[in-house]
Amino acid sequence: PNLSGAQIRQTFLDFYAERGHQVLPSASLVPEDPTVLLTIAGMLPFKPIFLGQRAAEFPRATSSQKCIRTNDIENVGRTARHHTFFEMLGNFSFGDYFKEKAIVWAWELSTEVFKLPPERLVVSVFREDDEAFAIWRDQIGIPEARIKRMDEKDNFWQSGPTGPCGPCSEIYYDFHPERGDDHIDLEDDTRFIEFYNLVFMQYNQDAEGNLTPLSAQNIDTGMGLERMAQILQRVPNNYETDLIFPIIQTAAQIAGLDYSACDEKTKTSLKVIGDHVRAVTHLIADGVNASNLGRGYVLRRLIRRVVRHGRLIGIEQPFITQVAESAIALAEAAYPNLRQREKAIKTELALEESRFLETLERGEKLLADIIAKLPAKGQISGQDAFTLYDTYGFPLELTQEIAEEAGLTVNTDGFEVEMEKQRDRARAAHETIDLTVQGSLDTLAENLHETSFLGYTQPQAEAEVK
Ligand code: ATP
Ligand code: MG
Ligand code: MG
Ligand code: MG
Repeated sequence: PNLSGAQIRQTFLDFYAERGHQVLPSASLVPEDPTVLLTIAGMLPFKPIFLGQRAAEFPRATSSQKCIRTNDIENVGRTARHHTFFEMLGNFSFGDYFKEKAIVWAWELSTEVFKLPPERLVVSVFREDDEAFAIWRDQIGIPEARIKRMDEKDNFWQSGPTGPCGPCSEIYYDFHPERGDDHIDLEDDTRFIEFYNLVFMQYNQDAEGNLTPLSAQNIDTGMGLERMAQILQRVPNNYETDLIFPIIQTAAQIAGLDYSACDEKTKTSLKVIGDHVRAVTHLIADGVNASNLGRGYVLRRLIRRVVRHGRLIGIEQPFITQVAESAIALAEAAYPNLRQREKAIKTELALEESRFLETLERGEKLLADIIAKLPAKGQISGQDAFTLYDTYGFPLELTQEIAEEAGLTVNTDGFEVEMEKQRDRARAAHETIDLTVQGSLDTLAENLHETSFLGYTQPQAEAEVK
């Protein structure tokens, strides 16, 4: 069925509510857990329960969780399925049902409710998980050729170096079943898309890598809302679903473009804008402000990429609040806090955008001069990249992006050397002034933070500062 994103979300929650799950609202993108920068999965709010640190109020829960994955930022617009911001639908069992029920329900939901043809589905299991393999083959009836055993990298789930973990089993949709079952390669994204991951949480991993069984076995699952929408709405990527496309159309309209007539590069920029604007509206709604540290830096980087991609497609004037309005309008029914925080969102966005536009214009001139002096396939020096970063607010990734467009590279090692020198200078300055000027320490610390850029290289550090 061609369900809207909102209908898919509701259908999922209803399905699990009917099966005894407590429906819970999405938690904030800013996790309660101070060691985690942002909410990256539906399970995060339940981590203390899975670790046995807190008792579960309900044995079963279901939610649609706002997530941000900065590790996928480079994939945005390049793959059909990755966002920074997305919603993860999940069903959870806290020491209640386990593998068999989780698999049977996931299959029932996928094939009977969402009506995906069974012959179009392929599943993966962890290499050693014979139990899951047997359930898929014997109870569900999937042919062995369409049950793939995978290694730790893909099918053993961990939320970090330590913590709850266990084998998982994923469900993929096959866009090209006619290619046959002989050479099934789940990494081939022209054929397959992973949409549902079932984690069978059985262990806790300690700092030495030892696995100990959890006091109770848990289920943690995640289904990408945008991915299910892509499949059911029969569009070529997540971006063209009703969850995101209206935002892209707003941006295209501002640029005077017709999306369907755009080349791939322009479409990618529009997708980046669509993705990032969703991310930044939700981040600000959840209380994040732009800064050079941690979450604030994630926000700043996303806003700057929106502005940068806007310029790539010919938008010279401020435009981000207009696109944000479209994102708010699109999501406010599910997330009323977006409209409640509208003023804060738009004020913050406009401020960051105008700040960045100013420095960007000056930096772009400088970078163009640098590039003009380089030979074809040349390299931008670490020093120049650092000047662009330090003086003009160009994140290294931005310089790299522009360099790439011109067929050039950037000396990132050299950039790191300059960063280190900068940190040394900052430390030295701190000592000197610390001894002589009483009372200006707070101001100084602020200034140092502005330029010391710990946020990106050590994203976890500031979470603790907060
Ligand atoms: P992939 O292999 O495609 O990167 P994943 O294995 O990293 O996905 P999980 O960590 O298993 O993803 O997350 C559970 C589900 O959340 C996925 O099956 C997918 O539907 C969705 N999902 C994960 N990452 C993203 C993303 N960056 N954008 C949109 N949806 C995502
Ligand atoms: Mg991934
Ligand atoms: Mg995967
Ligand atoms: Mg997965």
